[in-house]
Amino acid sequence: MEKLKPCPFCGSRPFIEDDSCYNASWHIFCPNCGCSQKWNQDIETAIENWNMRAEHKKAAQECNP
Ligand SMILES: [Zn+2]
Repeated sequence: MEKLKPCPFCGSRPFIEDDSCYNASWHIFCPNCGCSQKWNQDIETAIENWNMRAEHKKAAQECNP
């Protein structure tokens, strides 16, 4: 599994949340600033998307703190 990068906004350690009882869904959020991402089909995709956003500020516009 890839390692999660810190939050692109505040640098805090993000958490991975799964909603597997409802659907096979994963997303990553920052408990400090409330930044989160859309739900992903699997955890690998969730981590990939999060890390991409951490590297490219442009993609961080999706964030709604
Ligand atoms: Zn944050």
